[in-house]
Amino acid sequence: PLVLGIETSCDETGIGIVRGTTLLADAVASSVDEHARFGGVVPEVASRAHLEAMVPTVRRALADAGVTMRDIDAIAVTSGPGLAGALLVGVAAAKGYSVALDKPLYGVNHLASHVCVDQLEHGRLPEPCMALLVSGGHSSLLLVPDITSDVRPLGSTIDDAAGEAFDKVARVLGLGFPGGPVIDRWAREGDRAAIAFPRGLTGPRDAPFDFSFSGLKTSVARWVEARQRAGESVPVADVAASFQEAVVDVLTRKAIRACKENGVEHLMMGGGVSANTRLRALAQERCDAAGIVLRVPRPGLCTDNGAMVAALGAEMVARDRAPSTLSIPADSSMPVTVSQAVS
Ligand code: ATP
Ligand code: MG
Ligand code: FE
Repeated sequence: PLVLGIETSCDETGIGIVRGTTLLADAVASSVDEHARFGGVVPEVASRAHLEAMVPTVRRALADAGVTMRDIDAIAVTSGPGLAGALLVGVAAAKGYSVALDKPLYGVNHLASHVCVDQLEHGRLPEPCMALLVSGGHSSLLLVPDITSDVRPLGSTIDDAAGEAFDKVARVLGLGFPGGPVIDRWAREGDRAAIAFPRGLTGPRDAPFDFSFSGLKTSVARWVEARQRAGESVPVADVAASFQEAVVDVLTRKAIRACKENGVEHLMMGGGVSANTRLRALAQERCDAAGIVLRVPRPGLCTDNGAMVAALGAEMVARDRAPSTLSIPADSSMPVTVSQAVS
């Protein structure tokens, strides 16, 4: 079946079209530049941008896929979690298309979509698999027996998300927003062993699968301030590389431990931070050493997009899940354990 997916949980208006596990179109319009001067996403600005971008982005996706609206068999949309006003624009549009076309509607979970998207690149997701989900709003380790109905959180961040830490450290270094991609670039020129930043929650008594990045962020800020107070220049590349190493070291260590303790042989990484070059390299290295198969989609599919929503919708169809009703909400705090909104 041909599924159209709509994603508006944050600042990307994403429209994807898939047939089964085949990607046909992935059109994304981002309002990220409009938020840059505020140093973070402004919900009102994002909602308005989604309204303006919706129809043109749907048209672009249809044209890219070489299909018309009449060819679409089902509509999938991000029902949550995310920014309430932003989600509402996508959910309203999806309900409109569903009614107008008389096609079933699937309201899906944004986080499960970040995991499911890998199917478009590497074929059917092996289940159970472990998923390390790292984005601007989330950092979790998920055991996934069934991506359409059974996602179990093993642990998550107790303070900042990994992406949030990248964004905040970038601000400290005066590198702009969003911080992830720019720190990734700077880090390539730096020495990742230059500064020994703390590895959060890695003590023997700490929760094995929870994360903490707020102490790390503070530690970077203090280090930079001390340099500045002393009138010394800040070695941006070394700070970026050392900070990044502290994040990805902990993420990969815990992800591999989670695989081993649960007897799972496949690790999937998703969410915006999994676009990070060093995270991908270190995860590959450590998975190889542990005999675990690593699956990470290409960077463009790691950040928010509509293809991931279509991918999960198509999986709902493939597994004969009942469609959602037209009364599904825009649920800003939809739990990760819920893959699909039913009503
Ligand atoms: P969520 O999925 O939690 O709602 P989100 O909507 O912020 O989060 P994503 O697109 O999944 O969106 O992730 C964006 C985050 O990923 C930002 O914090 C950004 O800094 C980070 N990011 C993007 N590219 C990279 C990179 N190369 N290295 C590290 N972080 C990155
Ligand atoms: Mg985003
Ligand atoms: Fe996201």
